[in-house]
Amino acid sequence: MRSGQTAIGALTLALAAMTIGYFIGVSFQEPQVAQAAGGKVKSPVGTAPDRYVYYPGTEKLGKDEIRIIACGTGMPAARRGQAASCWVFELGNGDKFIFDLGTGSMANVMSLMIPADMLTKVFASHLHTDHVGDLAPLWAGGWTGGRTTPLEIWGPSGSRKDMGTAYFVEHFLKAYNWDYMTRAVKVNPIPGKIIAHEFDYKGENQIVYRKNGVTIRSWPAIHAGDGPVSYALEWKGYKVVFGGDTFPNTWFVKYAKNADIVIHEAMLTAEQLRKYYNQPPSRTIMMNTDIHTSAQAFGKVMSMIKPKLAIAYHFFNEEGTRYGIYDGIRETYDGPLSMATDMMVWNLTKQGITERMAVSSDEAWDVPGTEKGLQPDRSRKPETIWKELVEQRLDMSEVNKGWLDEYRTKYNLK
Ligand SMILES: [Zn+2]
Ligand SMILES: [Zn+2]
Repeated sequence: MRSGQTAIGALTLALAAMTIGYFIGVSFQEPQVAQAAGGKVKSPVGTAPDRYVYYPGTEKLGKDEIRIIACGTGMPAARRGQAASCWVFELGNGDKFIFDLGTGSMANVMSLMIPADMLTKVFASHLHTDHVGDLAPLWAGGWTGGRTTPLEIWGPSGSRKDMGTAYFVEHFLKAYNWDYMTRAVKVNPIPGKIIAHEFDYKGENQIVYRKNGVTIRSWPAIHAGDGPVSYALEWKGYKVVFGGDTFPNTWFVKYAKNADIVIHEAMLTAEQLRKYYNQPPSRTIMMNTDIHTSAQAFGKVMSMIKPKLAIAYHFFNEEGTRYGIYDGIRETYDGPLSMATDMMVWNLTKQGITERMAVSSDEAWDVPGTEKGLQPDRSRKPETIWKELVEQRLDMSEVNKGWLDEYRTKYNLK
């Protein structure tokens, strides 16, 4: 954003947060980056950059900048308009991390048109489907779409071996063995592998990842049983916290301190869960007081942490719900707040935090990255043993001859 705009109070900002982008920081300075939004319209026939939206792929990330895109902010029930938990973090050093990969979220991730070879690192807060349910399309889609390395997943252990991330990954690959076996003979098998980095879910503020100046820490979350964790990403003096699913807890308040941005769940109100989610009143109370965080409790946590920006998610954000949750949060918190929905984008720089909506394509393609593609493993042979599958093929050589000859000549193929 450019000059001519002034800083607005936190409350006004939070209200406006539900609709459009603006600067959340208190002091208002000329940003060094993210200039695609906030330009001036200079001519009726020229460009019109001032649209307060983020067009993926059009903004060079500053070397000291973090961009966070909400690719899933919803709930376990699949909804076309809002996927389940997924957050893409892009850093100015070129690193990209996916925190959670909930059901339906990969379509949003894909709409950013980030090359598949740059989306190789996933951090799972826990193993509920609304946090890992879209692993399959990242795994297989990225494999066929240009990833050159195995996918890597960081995630917690559980109270038993069969409830940890390594078990999940091992058995995910077993469940999709037919997919793996059939694909691995056609394209290079290496990107079809998944490396699980399982760490102790009990670790307090433990370092689970450190590379390239980026440190990611975890601590236990309190949600539905042993295993779930919350994460903090630290880089160049920034700290961004991603809570996953959790009931408010002392670890979170302690280790999320001094964060620039804190992403934390805020559950639908008990009445909303009863009315829209068809849950009995007793269960809606449990959802707000046992395994999840009520709006009021979210506000209380943020008042204790006082982040530069609090982001509430994990609720279906619509006319019937957002005001009830917002009012609940405002009973206990009056600081900067975003009520997240899918494709909201935040840019974090030393100048402050911007929030906008991403405008992306419903028909996005894989785009080539910087890595050279891998060749298939020619030593692999398909596991086809039934000769009928060969004999029952109709002869299509005549109907395909025309385009095939032309295509082979054009690309010098045998
Ligand atoms: Zn959960
Ligand atoms: Zn959840």
